[in-house]
Amino acid sequence: MKFLYALMMLLLTDTVALPQNADSLLIRKIFDQALTSRNAYDHLEQLCTQAPGRLFGSPNSLLALDLMKAAFEQMGADTIYLQPFHTPAWKCDSSSVYLINAGKQLSLHADALGPSPSTPAGGIEAEVIEVQSLDELETLGRKAIEGKIVFFNRKWDPTFIRTFEGYGDAVDQRAHGPEKAAAYGAIAAVVRSVTNSQDHFPHTGSTRFAGKKIPALAISTLDADLLSATLSNSPKARLRLNVASEDLPDILTYNLIAERKGREKPEEIIVLGSHIDTWFNTAGAHDDGAGVVMTSDVLRIFSALHIPNKRSLRIVVYMDEELYQSGGRAYLEAVKAKGEKHYLALESDGGAFTPRMFTVDASPEIVEKIARFQPFVGPYGIETIKAGWGGVDIGPLKTIQVPLMSYGTDSQRYFDLHHSANDSFDKINLRELQLGIGCISSVIYLIDKYGYE
Ligand SMILES: [Zn+2]
Repeated sequence: MKFLYALMMLLLTDTVALPQNADSLLIRKIFDQALTSRNAYDHLEQLCTQAPGRLFGSPNSLLALDLMKAAFEQMGADTIYLQPFHTPAWKCDSSSVYLINAGKQLSLHADALGPSPSTPAGGIEAEVIEVQSLDELETLGRKAIEGKIVFFNRKWDPTFIRTFEGYGDAVDQRAHGPEKAAAYGAIAAVVRSVTNSQDHFPHTGSTRFAGKKIPALAISTLDADLLSATLSNSPKARLRLNVASEDLPDILTYNLIAERKGREKPEEIIVLGSHIDTWFNTAGAHDDGAGVVMTSDVLRIFSALHIPNKRSLRIVVYMDEELYQSGGRAYLEAVKAKGEKHYLALESDGGAFTPRMFTVDASPEIVEKIARFQPFVGPYGIETIKAGWGGVDIGPLKTIQVPLMSYGTDSQRYFDLHHSANDSFDKINLRELQLGIGCISSVIYLIDKYGYE
């Protein structure tokens, strides 16, 4: 560690160029590899164009696993295998929303939330009551809500700098609005898409039902504005909703795992995780096809540069992050059953935008040790390594005290795309994707070599 400390001091005092030492030279080579390869980009295009809408349980979710399995075979993995597990699932075949007013009907841009139940054949038609918050339901009371469609229309607060905070502030309407509306006797719920973007894309996502389930859909922000304006002039305007969906009580699905064995401590595992499933309405380019191909490409880079990783590097392509998070739980169960030792888990699920940071969910001592690697990756865009979020898929590993990390990018455009048809391959920038691969590979190289003890 003394050597490392000396190196850090050298890095911190050298503002002109990277110091000429073995690690910074190797990291330069990692970036040369990342920045001259279209491997991950091409695999992402395949995923988005050949297997869009890959919600777990769908045929495309299995096709996506086949595509990634073939990709791993070319990338120098020692072991590739599927990890089977059973889970409840849900599928959506179609959904629509019509605004009916003054003898006319207008189709709105809508997608069902998961796991919305189906409407009866012929749909549901009713008057609409607009609210801005969950609390407002309480103020209005059952009498005002019963038999109606509740329309949650609070706008995203644009004053948050980090858009994940803006999302966290707005998402309660989608996550809990429908179940709360159901408790007050509503027959369905429509939610303004959780995005700051003003466009016609509906953004779906998960909603939780503890008790009674009612049909629940998201409409685009422009249509939410239109509906609100219509209701203020014509309070008797109605919506007609159709959802054709199905709960699947038990399906067999898989996580996909590829491994490069460690040379010195093969029993210690470093996991690189991301999720391959997407919502039914999207190609899932940034969420999270990008995470899958970026973390996978770390294997290719270690092989191409003959990096002798001490610990085993394991790429876990998780199934079902979006709806029930069953892949992360199934992975933890398998780890426990085999008694495997996990040294670290890193997740990428924030899109492939410009690199910004790594966050670490671990003890302050470990965070501090890992943060000391920042000067090595600072020149490539990592402004900070600090305490923070780990990830949804790797989250269950926290219960067995595994330090978690997350790769963080410039988040400004992420929620323009998130869970919508707008998250398509053309939104991927080759350079930003390649830089992400370089950053993740480099930080994993440093942690594997020097540890965090
Ligand atoms: Zn995601």
